[in-house]
Amino acid sequence: MIDSHLLTNIAGYVDGNWCQADGNQTEPVINPANGETLTEFGVMGSAETERAVAAAKRANQNRRDLQTRRQWLKDIGDALRAEKREIGRVLCLEHGKPWPEAQGEVEYAASFFDYFAEIIDELEPETLPENAKGCSWTIYHRPIGVAGLITPWNFPIGMIAKKLAPALAADCPSVIKPANETPLTTITLMQLIHERLDLPSGMVNLVMGKSSEIGKILTESPDVPMISFTGSTEVGRTLIDQGKTQVKKMGLELGGNAPFIVCNDADLDAAVDNLIANKFRGSGQTCVCANRIYVQNDVYQEFTNKLVAKIKTMRVGDGMDDNVDMGPLINRNGFDKVHEHVADALSKGATLEAGQHPDELSSERSLLYPPTVVSGATHAMRCTQEETFGPLVPLIRFETDQEVVEASNDTEFGLASYVFCQDTDRAHGIISRLSFGHCGWNTGTGPTAHAPFGGMKQSGIGREGGRDGLIEFTEAQSVPNGG
Ligand code: NAP
Repeated sequence: MIDSHLLTNIAGYVDGNWCQADGNQTEPVINPANGETLTEFGVMGSAETERAVAAAKRANQNRRDLQTRRQWLKDIGDALRAEKREIGRVLCLEHGKPWPEAQGEVEYAASFFDYFAEIIDELEPETLPENAKGCSWTIYHRPIGVAGLITPWNFPIGMIAKKLAPALAADCPSVIKPANETPLTTITLMQLIHERLDLPSGMVNLVMGKSSEIGKILTESPDVPMISFTGSTEVGRTLIDQGKTQVKKMGLELGGNAPFIVCNDADLDAAVDNLIANKFRGSGQTCVCANRIYVQNDVYQEFTNKLVAKIKTMRVGDGMDDNVDMGPLINRNGFDKVHEHVADALSKGATLEAGQHPDELSSERSLLYPPTVVSGATHAMRCTQEETFGPLVPLIRFETDQEVVEASNDTEFGLASYVFCQDTDRAHGIISRLSFGHCGWNTGTGPTAHAPFGGMKQSGIGREGGRDGLIEFTEAQSVPNGG
């Protein structure tokens, strides 16, 4: 069983108090590195969510000034940094990513609280320079109101930080629903908030359990004008459907199918290093992980050789052990999907360059999946059509820029993409034609608190981070003054 000074309550949090589920049903939280049960939590549903919404609605009846909200954000950022090792440990145990990487995620989360504290003055009213229609005009950024914040398991602290920080900055109370695989990291955040901040009751609430019941209350309640959701496109569509009678504002950060393009003038060593850092973070279970790797014909073999040589040195294991590059996959379904994608690619003519043949891997033994490279991948293979969400690198040849742009855009997704190319004009020619909200140029880096991040096409609606991520939680109110 897990023991942590930040987990003295394994419980939800409603109206400023820890609270247990109404019923006796529980769910285990499993350590994916060894299959052990870390703890169990009480499964909540509609009734607890309704109480959380009611508490948030009461908190929304009062307004807090900007300085107070700025201080909350600074205090949360400081508390996260102060507890980075312990939160990282809890995160590693329930998610599986290596402990140092998990601590990096805690710092990433803190950076969102820091950033929104810095730019909160953007919410001051603005007066237009023009006297349009004979009036002076002032634009107020009003809080949108109670926000439902639903997060996935792949970044247990990073994803909630991107939502909670701008919600608090904008003075919006929230009801948080973390993923059932990884609720403990969110509970550590609630414990920090409970112990170290003097938030009004109901400003931040936490429920966990029956996702469809909780989601239905949040999407159908007239008291929750906004849902901010990160997760799969499939669940995103369900939420849009459920929220339509309320004409609800939806911030949706959904799935990806990221192309990683290596041109013949690229710095191949940098491309290899960046691909490895990008692809194997979180064992390949991130929405911005390169999913399809396009390499130009004349450098294809050299790139493959360099990549395979480095990947063969990677160490996979329990994230709490020293010198582990990559932890396990989150669960059996995740493992099986990677397994199926590799088997499908090999059956359709791809060549295994690194990793183990699927016939030699038994998912019953463990959730550790070796870093795998296949060459000769094509668009007929599942691994190029679907998000693998695991440590598989499929290499695809290309000849011309036109061809690689068309192939990259040939997906319903439009989240992250990457281009390795030294020639500035050529690189921008490619980037400007890619329909992806994020495009790393000679870098495999993902989002930052300082810039808007989000998807085009079916990868989502809206942006997180940057000024855009703050404005998402507000409604503009224009006040013409004719006096
Ligand atoms: P998921 O199955 O869609 O779940 C995400 C969250 O939604 C979880 O908290 C889940 O709860 C909850 N949920 C499931 N069904 C629901 C419903 N009917 N109503 C309300 N909530 C519901 O996604 P996942 O497997 O956790 O995460 C992986 C996906 O997230 C990938 O597709 C990845 O690309 C995407 N993602 C996108 C971004 C981005 O920024 N665009 C970032 C990270 C991940 P339970 O755990 O209880 O099922």
